[in-house]
Amino acid sequence: MEKVILFILLGSLLLIWLIYIHFKFYKKIKTLELEAYYDKLTGANRLSRFTNIVNGIMEECTDGNIAILNIKQFKFINEIFGREKADLLLKYVSEVIKAHITSQECYCRSTTDEFVIFLHGRNMEEIKARIRSIIEKISTDAMKEYRNYRVGLYCGVVSQNGSEEKYPTCEEMITHATFAMKKAKEMYQNEIWVYDLELHKKELLENYVESHMNKALDKSEFKILLQPKINLQTKKVEGAEALVRWILEDGTMLSPNDFIPVFERNGFCSELDMYILEWICKKIRNWIDQGIDPVPISINQSKLLFVEDDYVEKVCYIIEKYKIPYHLISLEILEGLALEDAESINSKILQLQEKGIQVSMDDFGSGYSSLNSLAKLNIDELKLDRAFLVTALDEKTRQFIIMKKIVEMARELGISTVAEGIETKEDEKLIAEIGCNYGQGFCYSKPISVPAFQELYLM
Ligand code: C2E
Ligand code: MG
Ligand code: MG
Repeated sequence: MEKVILFILLGSLLLIWLIYIHFKFYKKIKTLELEAYYDKLTGANRLSRFTNIVNGIMEECTDGNIAILNIKQFKFINEIFGREKADLLLKYVSEVIKAHITSQECYCRSTTDEFVIFLHGRNMEEIKARIRSIIEKISTDAMKEYRNYRVGLYCGVVSQNGSEEKYPTCEEMITHATFAMKKAKEMYQNEIWVYDLELHKKELLENYVESHMNKALDKSEFKILLQPKINLQTKKVEGAEALVRWILEDGTMLSPNDFIPVFERNGFCSELDMYILEWICKKIRNWIDQGIDPVPISINQSKLLFVEDDYVEKVCYIIEKYKIPYHLISLEILEGLALEDAESINSKILQLQEKGIQVSMDDFGSGYSSLNSLAKLNIDELKLDRAFLVTALDEKTRQFIIMKKIVEMARELGISTVAEGIETKEDEKLIAEIGCNYGQGFCYSKPISVPAFQELYLM
């Protein structure tokens, strides 16, 4: 009898122990599951759970849309207002999205400051209106919390039938929506970008550009054109600017606007700019050897180059390799450089100038830092952006006075001036009136091939 009681007692203990272990593991598994499926901070789905759910929903529907929302300047918000407030903002964004979607829709937090939303609807205008109300709600409410700082959001959106794929997966739609979102980020004027056929072509082109750039350099697909620079007093060609074109295998020509921004993002621009510098040096050497008197050539330089420690050495090495007199090379930089570490950039400019290389500031007046850059960077030449000329003609008084004063100021600082984009005789007259030194533009010549330039201006 005693044995039976002992047996039952031991059995019960074992059972309790097993139940305890089971619940302990169950709880642990549940916690792990929760962590794997849900974002700890906001409670929103994680991306993997979201894509699973959405792929399931999209098997049954044809009116799905994916929108990606990103918080503008989140890093700045984190730094200025502190981590706690930034976390609060993320939680609030999550709450607002949750309140704006139906039970058949869902969303997730995909990265630090990015949320992906799945919405039903066939009318893109209605989808955009729904997203806009989410953005509006977050922006206005957040202002109270952030001392009137307006939290902005930008968004890329794609509809299930807006992609090329017949039955796109959630992952494919996220890729497209991300592309559209990046466009919204770059362009400022529009907070919501829809992935449409035009963006699709752009995405294909960017993918092509990125995957073919290295080979293109090996296969010499980058061609250089020269555009003459005219002395406005003597009307003589006293220089030229090297402008790159990419000629694809099938003969299609890509303009720099199609690939330079991509190269600036992925870093390839430094390599291309050095290639062009070397190509030009080789050409000048070739002219000198043939007894042809060359003119100075300007080469556009990406701002990426200026953060390289050995930039000046690399430039000088190439110029010396071809024994080119330094004054025949002019380097064009962008005014935005003054926003970077101006002191270190200026020291590089000075080292280049000590050798005799000219440094020119391109597209002056097109950015946000014009006067600042003029004050901080020790340049030899200022190229006034074409936009100046266009507006000077339209609003004669104000723009004209500003342009005239800039030219005057440059003269006082010992900097020569070039007007870009002179298209007509009226442009030329206006530019001559304000005392600009040089002109460049279609009025004199479009960018032309190097042999044509040699024939027309050097022989
Ligand atoms: P940029 O350096 O300001 O070059 C002047 C641009 O204005 C050129 O466009 C030229 O073709 C265009 N242009 C010249 N005259 C006129 C005119 O009278 N009217 C109008 N409407 N346009 C005129 P392009 O060749 O398309 O180059 C665009 C930009 O791409 C260049 O602007 C430059 O920032 C960049 N780029 C070109 N080649 C290179 C390069 O080798 N390296 C780097 N980093 N950037 C380059
Ligand atoms: Mg230029
Ligand atoms: Mg320019």
